[in-house]
Amino acid sequence: MSRAHADASNGAVADPPLLRLEEARAHMLAGVRALPAEWVTLERALGRVLAEPLDTQVSLPPWDNSAMDGFALRAADVSGASLGEPIVLEVIGEVPAGHAPDVGVTPGTAIRVFTGALMPPGADAVVPVEDTDAPRGLAARPDRVAIHQGAATGAHIRLAGEDVRAGERILPAGVTVSPARLALAAATGHGELLVHRRPRVAVLATGDELVPAGRPLGAAGIHDSNSVSLAAQVRAAGAKPVRLGLARDRSEEVVARLREGVAIADMVIASGGVSVGAHDVVKDAFGAVGTLDLWRVAVQPGKPVAFGHAKRARGQGGDGGSDEQAVLLFGLPGNPVSTFVTFEIFVRPVLRRLAGHADATGRMLIRAELVEPITKSPGRRAFLRVRLEPDPDRATGWRATLSGGQGSHVISALAEANGLAVVPEEVDSLPSGALVDVVVLDEGAS
Ligand code: AMP
Ligand code: MG
Repeated sequence: MSRAHADASNGAVADPPLLRLEEARAHMLAGVRALPAEWVTLERALGRVLAEPLDTQVSLPPWDNSAMDGFALRAADVSGASLGEPIVLEVIGEVPAGHAPDVGVTPGTAIRVFTGALMPPGADAVVPVEDTDAPRGLAARPDRVAIHQGAATGAHIRLAGEDVRAGERILPAGVTVSPARLALAAATGHGELLVHRRPRVAVLATGDELVPAGRPLGAAGIHDSNSVSLAAQVRAAGAKPVRLGLARDRSEEVVARLREGVAIADMVIASGGVSVGAHDVVKDAFGAVGTLDLWRVAVQPGKPVAFGHAKRARGQGGDGGSDEQAVLLFGLPGNPVSTFVTFEIFVRPVLRRLAGHADATGRMLIRAELVEPITKSPGRRAFLRVRLEPDPDRATGWRATLSGGQGSHVISALAEANGLAVVPEEVDSLPSGALVDVVVLDEGAS
């Protein structure tokens, strides 16, 4: 399907109608499946999505153990003990963590234990060292101990399997591997996890004016910021960026770079050159390496966003599997704020789907009160750059303040924003005090 159609009579290209955001996003997500799974070490699994459920072969804790430094004993032996009338027991042994007990508790005796120590046989409670006359810490084991407080049966004992039981399912497929889930995987003895492969994303910036950051600008240069922000957004979305560098506004050059990207990546993102100017060569370049499927969506900023597909030639890069998906092509408008916002609303959901996430956007929406009036283009859904802050004086508990100028070239307002306020197509302006949904962006995501 090509929605950028040539007018048959004079060869001029007529602009296709603006697509609704949902229609465009549905088309972009259609047929996108999670990438194949691979085993990775725990260190490499953070942020990935589990490709199969995780079961445990061990219980946690694996055996009954002490929750305190203290004395393992029989609760019946210390019934009624108090500071005024302590009960004295003979200390017949000691169990540090990591050692198996070599002796059991018998009536009238206690065994010194440390946190995490395996409970010695015969004991049914632990009295913390604080409730005895024994010295704390690593002092030599006393021969006797005066117990200053009684203990209920089971006191300060962590029971085998009270956390998870051997044979149990501990994580379903499809969850994101977080630091806490890594703790659970490691605690149950898993050294590797089966997770979906990270999407590889080739990033290209197009434009005659572009100069890499750190190089002198010359008379009419602009520092390329888009390939830097895009690579960072790709990484923050859990995918792997590959920089294709810069291309001039020349069809041959853009086509050659796109082909490089198609050969090595699951997705190619080009910034710039998707408008209607004479130098905007990216859409035609999509047609040359694959297909241009859609162009122009009713959003602000980012209206000229383009999307297409390309097939990877057999034997070229990738996994080479027979069910390999087509490479996805995104052409994002070059204004830095448009690039950022269109990545957020169109590209990120597709990347998350490739990475195996069930929730494509993975973003929280917070309803907040605008603290100033706003205006926008009619007929397009706007994503205003805002600062979202808790505010107990507002009905929803949150206020949203424009983070600066709303032009699509204003990078300082983007840098200051921690949210995108969503204003519907049919609304042209909103008064101060109006409620908006704000997409919460993660600042400083690694
Ligand atoms: P374009 O989408 O090519 O029409 O570019 C729109 C605006 O974005 C122009 O002012 C460009 O100079 C600027 N621009 C394009 N690409 C980049 C880039 N990679 N980094 C920073 N600004 C860019
Ligand atoms: Mg340009």
